[in-house]
Amino acid sequence: MSTIANNIAKVAARIREAAQAAGRTPSAVGLLAVSKTQPAAAIREAFAAGVGDFGENYLQEALDKQAQLGDLALTWHFIGPIQSNKTKPIAEHFDWVHSVDRLKIAQRLSAQRPAHLPPLNLCLQVNVSGEASKSGCAPEDVTALAESVAALPNLRLRGLMCIPAPTDDPQEQRAAFARLRHLKDSLDLPLDTLSMGMSQDLEAAIAEGATWVRIGTALFGARDYGRPA
Ligand SMILES: *Cc1c(COP(=O)(O)O)cnc(C)c1O
Repeated sequence: MSTIANNIAKVAARIREAAQAAGRTPSAVGLLAVSKTQPAAAIREAFAAGVGDFGENYLQEALDKQAQLGDLALTWHFIGPIQSNKTKPIAEHFDWVHSVDRLKIAQRLSAQRPAHLPPLNLCLQVNVSGEASKSGCAPEDVTALAESVAALPNLRLRGLMCIPAPTDDPQEQRAAFARLRHLKDSLDLPLDTLSMGMSQDLEAAIAEGATWVRIGTALFGARDYGRPA
């Protein structure tokens, strides 16, 4: 088995065990492979080992890899910060966007989603840890934002996403993820998605109801930002 295939098997086992420990069905937790900075060949390898969903943070890098991988039936997720002048290619080239944190971005994605494509699946990113420097809307603004976004055509609001402040304390990890779950449950909308949990904290996220875990390092190894992907 290749290293990537081997890592996929290990992460799948972690997901299965965490789901079982929480009394959840393992298939209710999707594995989103975060392939930022990784070459197209790594995505090809992961796909061959059974992964179909890939998350990218940097638009140009993602478009380059999509062009190299057009022969594969991949599902592409945009998970990075979004500048308003970049919404058109995102609306045209992705199936999901996890990182919408303001109405203007959602309005542009809706207006720019091509008519021949299904609605763009959307999550609202919430700043659950209250870190001033982080993206994500404030928890107190989620209700109004979600209601406005749910009313837009060409989008399908699926749920909420967060990137909590990193901590090794499992109790703190769970508290942040629980906050996102409570916010989702407080909304009077038919939402089915909690995008939360990364390589270090996927167990805590699954315990609190994650439906997508976004995993980079544990699948592909450490990222090298110095080298072009
Ligand atoms: C990079 C990234 C991840 C993956 O993080 P790992 O710790 O490498 O698993 C997940 N989500 C987002 C939004 C990211 O930018």
